[in-house]
Amino acid sequence: MSDAPVFTPSQAAWRPDAAQWVNRIAQLSAQLDAEHQVPLGTLWAGDPVPHPRWVAVNHALATDMGWPEGWHQGQGDDAALHVLSGNAVWPGMAPLATVYSGHQFGMWAGQLGDGRALLLGELSTPVGPLEVQLKGAGATPYSRRADGRAVLRSSIREYLCSEAMHGLGIPTTRALALTASPLAVRRETFETAAVVTRVAPSFIRFGHFEHFAHSRRPRHHEVLAALVDAVIAHHYPHLAEAPNRALALLDEVVRRTATLMAQWQSVGFCHGVMNTDNMSILGLTIDYGPFGFMDAFDPDHICNHSDDHGRYSWNNQPQIGYWNLRALAEALLPLIPGADEDTGPVMAVLQGYEERFPAEMLARWRAKVGLATERPEDERLVLDLLQLMARGHLDFTITFRRLCSFRSDLPVTDPANAPVRDLFLDREAFDAWAQRYQARLQAEGSVDAERAARMQRINPLYVLRNHMAETAIQKARMGDDSEVQRLHRLLQRPFDVQPGCEADADFPPDWASSIEVSCSS
Ligand code: AMP
Ligand code: MG
Repeated sequence: MSDAPVFTPSQAAWRPDAAQWVNRIAQLSAQLDAEHQVPLGTLWAGDPVPHPRWVAVNHALATDMGWPEGWHQGQGDDAALHVLSGNAVWPGMAPLATVYSGHQFGMWAGQLGDGRALLLGELSTPVGPLEVQLKGAGATPYSRRADGRAVLRSSIREYLCSEAMHGLGIPTTRALALTASPLAVRRETFETAAVVTRVAPSFIRFGHFEHFAHSRRPRHHEVLAALVDAVIAHHYPHLAEAPNRALALLDEVVRRTATLMAQWQSVGFCHGVMNTDNMSILGLTIDYGPFGFMDAFDPDHICNHSDDHGRYSWNNQPQIGYWNLRALAEALLPLIPGADEDTGPVMAVLQGYEERFPAEMLARWRAKVGLATERPEDERLVLDLLQLMARGHLDFTITFRRLCSFRSDLPVTDPANAPVRDLFLDREAFDAWAQRYQARLQAEGSVDAERAARMQRINPLYVLRNHMAETAIQKARMGDDSEVQRLHRLLQRPFDVQPGCEADADFPPDWASSIEVSCSS
């Protein structure tokens, strides 16, 4: 039994206490406007959608936030269903669309901003202050002629993947709820609208800093400094006394981004649109669009059909992370006296990435193959495995999961090793590799059962494959949301065997390879 408070729908619609809304970003925006005539965004309201309905509600997250059971069942115009669809606001909220700029596909794109996101406010919760943001609640001053909507298809993908990443232990914005409306939205064909409620300690992106760095307004450096100070005060308080706060912030973001990239790589996740406006200042995975978890391993895998040159391929992600950090560094340069991008302290901080990422990556590869100690030859061992997997187009998730049960106490060719061995068409090459692996495991006195248990905590059994999301989308389009909810439950515990979910752990069906995911969302 949960000891969470219970809300009964016969009462008036539940809402958080108005005093719980802190709204720091709206306050900062007002302050910047008053002092510099440069707000951080525009106070705004959602454009109502007709007949919203719940598609999914994240009860676990709502409970963490201190919301009572049944919070979503209220009736009336200001019920949660309407607020989280952008049709109403609760007292205490200060909805704001923020402005940012960014580099898209390596080119300076100028002003972008929350074209379809609306920050409802920042709420103080038992797990700390959290910003609550709607995605798809209508056009804003930053929509640039687009419609401000998100379609049900991409919203289901964002909802499920946010929670799948969280289940994997990878930093991410969260998804609190998903509502749908029959409102028609034009993409390649007509689709219908949906609104995802996202939750994160902050939705500030690299692009927010780039925006003020590039704006040629008088005293824009002061605005940039105010943003740095606000982010530090709230999210990195230990940096408040740093000799140079902008440099210290950069250093922290370098670390977090290096870790995040290693985490993505280690589960075969491709983000798909790593533009600087999609990079979180907290090192969270943010803005789920044409993302994908790889089925067959291909280091050059491009998950975004619109990414013609593979700028954001799986293999390129770590380097693009660095490229984006350089863009952030460049934006912060005016606040770092005497610093030139190619020399001095900024370069030293950026170089931290070149040490941090490979170290984080190698640590994860080691853990994925179950090595408890470190030896110089480990990197070669892992890279050779990845090369074999790539040559044979082996399924990324299944191969690592089956490797968990590798028996080092038996011959490589023993039937007990067949589940993983049989994945490799080139048995000879696998056997040669597996003998090295076996020797390496024996050298550290690895105990098979213990290692298997350890490996099964880092090599997921279930990831959100495109075809799984696609099946949930097709059903939800017909009004049946059960598959969205089932996948949400499944992916909350991606490492645990869940009876009845064998198909979710299996190879993707043939039709999966024909799914094309583009920027259209
Ligand atoms: P993305 O790369 O999908 O995160 O989006 C890049 C920029 O385009 C952001 O500023 C978004 O807010 C904006 N954008 C994307 N789709 C829409 C839309 N349908 N309506 C308004 N703005 C959008
Ligand atoms: Mg974006």
